[in-house]
Amino acid sequence: MRTKGLLIVVSGPSGAGKGTICKELLNRRDDINISVSATTREPRNGEKHGVNYFFLGRDEFESGIEKDAFLEHATVYNNLYGTPKDYVMEKVNAGEDVLLEIDIQGALQVKERYPEGVFIFILPPSYEELRKRIIGRGSETEESLKTRFSSAYDEIKLVNHYDYFIINDEVDKATDLMVSIIVAERNRVMGNVEEIMRTFKKEEKGC
Ligand code: 5GP
Repeated sequence: MRTKGLLIVVSGPSGAGKGTICKELLNRRDDINISVSATTREPRNGEKHGVNYFFLGRDEFESGIEKDAFLEHATVYNNLYGTPKDYVMEKVNAGEDVLLEIDIQGALQVKERYPEGVFIFILPPSYEELRKRIIGRGSETEESLKTRFSSAYDEIKLVNHYDYFIINDEVDKATDLMVSIIVAERNRVMGNVEEIMRTFKKEEKGC
């Protein structure tokens, strides 16, 4: 019945657990597409080109920017990241939902270009918990721990640009909330009136 799919944008500070929730959401639902981003960062162990990211050289990425190939792009921790525009818009225009897990700068750009997106902000239960999670990953250097932790407040301040917030206390509960938001958004009247009226056009006989 829906003409357009949802563009669901998920962000939140590092350590809030947005990656885990998105993974769990995709495990549960096969009717949501994930957008694979492009990045100039080096692949980590086990990461595959085209699956985790499209790993591009800086020149290649910059030529993508010139060609307007990205719906948004941003520098995150000294690397470029961007959302391939064609894939996302083709799916959304074909009535399919697409999930973007991107940083806040990128989310604000998407909001400018596509305000009808659904913007969801993932929060940790507290700063203490955020600190524990970032340290617990064990993958960050002392320097990057500091950067990630000190950006958290600046990022959380931007929550007012989002439509929904989810406190990630337990992954299962947080994912339940995400599903509820998506289901509710799919049934919004706004944006679907034409399609509803096309389906229920006046019959010759009857009502
Ligand atoms: P990581 O390198 O750890 O996979 O990701 C680092 C950060 O980049 C995360 O906050 C992630 O959400 C963000 N990110 C991943 N893909 C994109 C993208 O396409 N655009 C933007 N703006 N941020 C992204």
